Amino acid sequence: MTSMVHGIHHVTAIAGDARENWAFYTGVMGMRLVKKSVNQDDPHTYHLFYADGAGTPGTDLTFFPWAQMAPTRLGTGLTVEVPLAVPEGSLPYWQARFDREGVAYEPMERRFDEKTLPFTDPHGLRLALVESADAREWVSWEASPVPPEHQVRGMHSVRLWERRLGPTETLLTGYMGFDHLGTEDNWHRYGVEGGGSGKMVEVQEVHDQAPGRWGTGGVHHVAWRVKDDEEEIELSEQIQDAGLAPTQQIDRFWFKSVYFREPGSVLFELATDGPGFDRDEDMSRLGEQLILPPWLEPRRPEIEAALPPLGTS
Ligand code: ZN
Repeated sequence: MTSMVHGIHHVTAIAGDARENWAFYTGVMGMRLVKKSVNQDDPHTYHLFYADGAGTPGTDLTFFPWAQMAPTRLGTGLTVEVPLAVPEGSLPYWQARFDREGVAYEPMERRFDEKTLPFTDPHGLRLALVESADAREWVSWEASPVPPEHQVRGMHSVRLWERRLGPTETLLTGYMGFDHLGTEDNWHRYGVEGGGSGKMVEVQEVHDQAPGRWGTGGVHHVAWRVKDDEEEIELSEQIQDAGLAPTQQIDRFWFKSVYFREPGSVLFELATDGPGFDRDEDMSRLGEQLILPPWLEPRRPEIEAALPPLGTS
């Protein structure tokens, strides 16, 4: 029996100023800060996790605020847009909200027959809101400034630019469980478990772009859901069979991760659904305290002193 991923687990991007990032995702987008931690390889940088009311896998958009980095250079081998799902009929609410908040957005369009509002965050990250009636695992956030009927439901899809479609398509369909669902404007849409919101990736082959480069406003990696350790190991072996080089399993405390570059060099991760963000904090108080991995706890005073306060939450 071949293992397959079950949709998007989280997307991690690079932001500029941490306070601006926090103000935008909690204040304008109405998402819940479910974990305030640090980059484990660079503990003087935050790692901020925004999600639904419970940190449900598939709803989580995370950021490394690296304000000193140059802006991302869009190009091949990168995730170039993160579409987010909102309920049907929500886009007029969001347009009015963006007008009021001064958020730049593009004209509404239809993609694969879904109403889509492309926009950018304050540091240049390309996002879109997509109206979808698909059922999703999702918990409302009662302290959000956005009413539950319009709140973001999670990642709808991810959009990748590739130099060559073929090798990436082979990985997706041959080793990760995706099917090709359709093509529109040279965007190839793939889905797992039949597709639907949160279970899709869209790939465009582009020939007039240089390889992209990470920077502020760019996506760092896309993580795909796996049920548990066992399934993660099985998938990791399949990824190796595809000729790629997955890392060892890394314990991220709230989930376990394996990283690899897909053939076009977009960084992918496999991430387990559990244990979840309430492993080290009460569900009612997620994100209120700075959470450090045990080996960084002795350095807490120095680390906290170096991080800017995010504001009252
Ligand atoms: Zn990740």
